[in-house]
Amino acid sequence: MDIANMNTRLGDRHVIVGAGEAGTRAALALRDAGAQRVTLIGAEACLPYERPPLSKPEGNEITVRAITTDFAGIDTQFGRWVSFVDRSVRQLQFSDGEHLSYDWLLLATGARARPLPRAENTRVLTLRTCDDAAAIYAEARAGRCCVIIGAGLIGLELAAVMRGRGMLVTVLEAGARAMSRVLPQDLSDEIVARHRLEGVRIVFGANIVATTAQAVVLDDGEEVVADLIVAAIGAVPNSSLAEDIGLTCGNGIHVDDKLQTSDPRIFSAGDCAAVEHPLLGRIRFESWRSACDQGVAAADAMLGNQVKFATYPWFWSDQYDLGIQMVGLHDPSRQTIRRQLQGDGWIFFEIDPDGVLCAASGVARGHGVAKDIRLSELLIERRVAPSREALADPSVNLKSLLPRS
Ligand code: FAD
Repeated sequence: MDIANMNTRLGDRHVIVGAGEAGTRAALALRDAGAQRVTLIGAEACLPYERPPLSKPEGNEITVRAITTDFAGIDTQFGRWVSFVDRSVRQLQFSDGEHLSYDWLLLATGARARPLPRAENTRVLTLRTCDDAAAIYAEARAGRCCVIIGAGLIGLELAAVMRGRGMLVTVLEAGARAMSRVLPQDLSDEIVARHRLEGVRIVFGANIVATTAQAVVLDDGEEVVADLIVAAIGAVPNSSLAEDIGLTCGNGIHVDDKLQTSDPRIFSAGDCAAVEHPLLGRIRFESWRSACDQGVAAADAMLGNQVKFATYPWFWSDQYDLGIQMVGLHDPSRQTIRRQLQGDGWIFFEIDPDGVLCAASGVARGHGVAKDIRLSELLIERRVAPSREALADPSVNLKSLLPRS
């Protein structure tokens, strides 16, 4: 830690644009480290909240869980939109014309739901904010038809919730399988099988040609009846502010492993940031833990500490009573080894041609895979190449495969 440098920055003005997970965690970390002038600006007027519970509501209520209610020592400006940054004088401009100066700036502007193309004239909902969740769940009534477009994590979580509310659910997926970006085929097939058992209809290779007030029309002429249509086809990084001021961007705001943009006074973290990861190359990984970890790391870097962001991607998803977890980056070209867990469920290990473990994902009831995924993460971090037999054998404790230190 560069104490001398850090102490000189504690009195500087640290400004954060975006009060989601990454921005809020950064603000708290700056305050807790002793930074005296921290401003957190967010477009949403409410207190910053966790997004994962929006697709995992408890009972019939939408769960809006605040990230924190303790903003002591932080100047919060919620319900305000930052429209421009003048880098030459280090000043940002709000949409109402007001200005604010900064010494160090963090762009934590997140992402927005990708809209369904050519659906401007129909009511197609998306799920990103608590207002979106309120609009969707207000339509959830037993016996009505819900069509979800996209068999990714959020689409399938929503399918499970809507089934639980008695809706007749169809999931339309353009690709050949579910959750293809993040999970190996064997695992996604297991999860799809469970959805079908629950009565969800999942159509792969679905090519939507139109949406109407009552249906989604496919290119084979089928009209899938819909009282409610939700598009869950991914998210788009909010990088236009960064682009407008000439920062290097491309599927997100480009940052190095110190989370610094092409302007050394400006940092970026969370869903909007495309990080140069020292081991994985440039990645923009939308997950709760990445947003938390990057927010804290960016705060550290803004204070002048040595930072090298090298955390592996990790996420979880809950569908029915199943808990799914993944660590590392899925690559469909890798060899996959399946291990049946001792209670129930599976874990899938992905190894490279040298046998090095690169990614692991699993599904089981509740938190059944959590421990093994955590151990897998340690194996991945240490670049261990366990034997295929040991990986496949449930009687071999993954801990025993860790190198002795
Ligand atoms: P965001 O949460 O998008 O926050 C960015 C904020 O910046 C927004 O409030 C936005 O309004 C504001 N903003 C943008 N531009 C401006 C501007 N110019 N001026 C002012 N404010 C601005 N991850 C998991 O690992 N597991 C899960 O189970 C899981 N479930 C999820 C379920 C849902 C429904 C969603 C939407 C996401 C889920 N995620 C999950 C992903 C995880 O929640 C996100 O990766 C994380 O919240 C991203 O945080 P962020 O701070 O980068 O961005």
